[in-house]
Amino acid sequence: MGNAAIVLAGGNGSRMHSEIKKQYMLIGGKPVLFYSLDTFQKSSIIDEIILVCGSEEVNRCKKEIVEKYGFTKVKKVVAGGKERHDSVWEGLKAVGSCDYVMIHDGARPFIDQNMLERIWEELPKVRACTVGMPVKDTIKLSDIKGFVEQTLPRERLWMIQTPQAFEYSLICQAHKRLAEGKMQGLKVTDDAMLVESMENLPVKLVEGSYENIKITTPEDLVLAEAIQKKRSMEDEMA
Ligand code: C5P
Repeated sequence: MGNAAIVLAGGNGSRMHSEIKKQYMLIGGKPVLFYSLDTFQKSSIIDEIILVCGSEEVNRCKKEIVEKYGFTKVKKVVAGGKERHDSVWEGLKAVGSCDYVMIHDGARPFIDQNMLERIWEELPKVRACTVGMPVKDTIKLSDIKGFVEQTLPRERLWMIQTPQAFEYSLICQAHKRLAEGKMQGLKVTDDAMLVESMENLPVKLVEGSYENIKITTPEDLVLAEAIQKKRSMEDEMA
């Protein structure tokens, strides 16, 4: 059946304080969304891509992204939902069926082929994994009054990124549990946490990259331009 990638671009990006949504902003002359789609398009692991965007942007995404850049693996462009997990669900339904699925935030342009290979090496063995990186800073837990409650052990803390990758039937089951209200009180910020709440299903941590930033606030764009310049110089030298 093959493997699919779901690329999410259905958010409003309100923390960017900009008229243009962050996924369409330009880095190195191309939209943020271009870069991760390009990596999945060139990956031999991925057979099809589903692009999830805002309901008013489906045609624009088809014309200005998929057709313009020739992303032939993008089989469907579908409208997302209110929350991120609603958009993922729309993406999973659009896939129909496959063996494994990678779920990725389109706001993270700097994934690379080596990262996808590292995921693919683990995925069939573990059924669920996510990329991430060890934290560099000391992380503290605050109480509701803004005082430190606890200093967490840094050597075990990871910042979690995407892609997160799953056996397709497993992640569908996890999202169904959420839709059925079996995870009430849980603020769902990624897909791995849905699987973590299932019994006997540990999610494997796979090395991502410190360049795999999520573009969220204006200063991230400055960093993104610098990473993109470095990458295009590396490509020229290769
Ligand atoms: O809001 P956050 O930064 O966590 O969004 C992560 C990714 O999920 C972004 O690529 C965003 O476009 C996408 N998203 C979505 N549908 C939503 C909310 C977010 O596709 N309703």
